[in-house]
Amino acid sequence: MLEIKNYINGELVGPAEGRYLDNFDPATGQVYSKVPDSGGVDVERAVDAAGHAFSAWSRMSTAKRSDILLKIADLIEANADRLARAECIDNGKPLSLARSLDIPRAATNFRFFATRILHSQSESHAMDYSAINYTLRRPRGVAGIISPWNLPLYLFTWKVAPALATGNTVVGKPSEVTPMTAFLFSELCIEAGLPPGVLNVVHGAGAKAGQALVEHPAVPTISFTGGTKTGGTIAKTAGPLFKKYSLELGGKNPNVVFADADLDKALPGSVRASFANQGQVCLCGSRLFVEAPIYDSFVERFLDASKKLRVGDPLEPDTDQGSLVSKAQFEKVSYYVDLAKEEGGEILLGGGPPAPISDRCKEGYFFYPTVIAGLGMNCRVNREEIFGPVVAIMPFKNEDEVIEYANATDYGLAASVWTKDIDRAHRVSERINCGTVWVNCWMLRDLRVPFGGMKQSGVGREGGEEAMRFFTEPKNVCVALRDA
Ligand code: NDP
Repeated sequence: MLEIKNYINGELVGPAEGRYLDNFDPATGQVYSKVPDSGGVDVERAVDAAGHAFSAWSRMSTAKRSDILLKIADLIEANADRLARAECIDNGKPLSLARSLDIPRAATNFRFFATRILHSQSESHAMDYSAINYTLRRPRGVAGIISPWNLPLYLFTWKVAPALATGNTVVGKPSEVTPMTAFLFSELCIEAGLPPGVLNVVHGAGAKAGQALVEHPAVPTISFTGGTKTGGTIAKTAGPLFKKYSLELGGKNPNVVFADADLDKALPGSVRASFANQGQVCLCGSRLFVEAPIYDSFVERFLDASKKLRVGDPLEPDTDQGSLVSKAQFEKVSYYVDLAKEEGGEILLGGGPPAPISDRCKEGYFFYPTVIAGLGMNCRVNREEIFGPVVAIMPFKNEDEVIEYANATDYGLAASVWTKDIDRAHRVSERINCGTVWVNCWMLRDLRVPFGGMKQSGVGREGGEEAMRFFTEPKNVCVALRDA
């Protein structure tokens, strides 16, 4: 059986203690590879390698660094079919989604930051005629990067690319649930000529390898994407060590459809926002609010459109919905659907696994797209992140009411607003407490804009300039021009 390797100091190596964990194909429920169960010794070696590589990498000319990162982007593109298949098997997502979204975006992440550094500017402030201040930005050293399983290569490279582009070296810990693309990516980094130690990938469990990385005294920067609870643990560890950290966490995002919306756009947009990647996107609109005059007709059309989603073998080209990522995730989603019933919800669609997909997938973790009505704003299903193909649909009377509903959660990651009234679009966008509002669209991403969440959805922002700043330390130099 294939054994995934760590990538340390430019080499693919097994874990120090020789222990491996099972890696499952969630569409079949079968173990298909082994992933290193790394621990403190592996993290120590990786941090050591990254520390030694830092001086040469950070002082390499920007043009040369950019060339190497662009070569990595080229190799991701050249290997897109292989990477997409690996991601599909690792994660259960449809092959078509991995091929059209995850893998191209991983290449774009590298291309974006590799070219961004070629056009850097720094600030300068003249104090009348007495002095000039200028700001030097320097990489911070070894960055610890921890990423989740839902968009494995997309989110891993979204952090690795800016960290490397700004001259940091990296120790990354991908999710143990979906390690395969980070492993294949390590091979591509070797092929691209990335100097040894610049990027190191240590696979293993979060509480062991991840925790060792966050605690390590020679890792001053932690960039984390994952659940809010884990984010809290990381903050508790990194805070007292005065590390700089960024946390991209969970969401319970409102998707608001006003009666004047262009329904030919709002309907498919809402179906996508509800069920893309089996609802396992932090940005999914898991609370769907529809203005009362169109509520009944919208629900009918929304259910019709959702029923047409083909739940199937992720490897089949026409599959819209693959399997959930793991047995644990299947149990979590099932738990919340049961809870919704206890809380008075009415299941309008789905509510459990579909009929067996195929002989190959008979033990996979599939869950039918599920729509629930009749839940109150305070019930747990409307407040807690489920992270599955489950959407709660509710009517609202007016703008004030829906803003209150939208904000009635501890999360504040993203929202969508569908309306033809431009004044209302701006007003509502301003009043929803979250990091991103999409008007008449969903998950349209411009890599230059700040990305992140308010409230329990995170601390800090990623994206373009924010990432460049996060991974660098500003130093002000004040030069006197004459005696004060
Ligand atoms: P987790 O928080 O469970 O895990 C995220 C990563 O952290 C994994 O690599 C995990 O390893 C690791 N980890 C777990 N415990 C620790 C620890 N004590 N110290 C260091 N690392 C640790 O999240 P999931 O993987 O379940 O991902 C789903 C979550 O991610 C959802 O809540 C989703 O909303 C959020 N997310 C947020 C996004 C955003 O941009 N805001 C984007 C995408 C997802 P292991 O897998 O081995 O446990």
